[in-house]
Amino acid sequence: MPKTKARVVVIVDEEICKGCGLCVAACPRDAMQFAEHFNTRGFHPACLADPDRCTGCTQCALMCPDACITIRKLG
Ligand code: SF4
Ligand code: SF4
Repeated sequence: MPKTKARVVVIVDEEICKGCGLCVAACPRDAMQFAEHFNTRGFHPACLADPDRCTGCTQCALMCPDACITIRKLG
């Protein structure tokens, strides 16, 4: 696992994600993006592309209509 300064982990349930992009648009820090791979439903799942930018504000998780996103604060 690469080293990061992040104190927050954003976990996306990739199989539930439908790639709607609401979380990507909602992130005030532009930290969420779409993964390059597809899930088994044929969608590019969202992911935390830049952990160092994430503040743990939870906007992405609150925005997700399918509750795919879990945020854990470390330490
Ligand atoms: S918790 Fe906030 S800063 Fe972090 S990815 Fe989600 S919306 Fe962006
Ligand atoms: S809002 Fe939810 S369903 Fe939509 S892209 Fe983000 S994680 Fe996936």
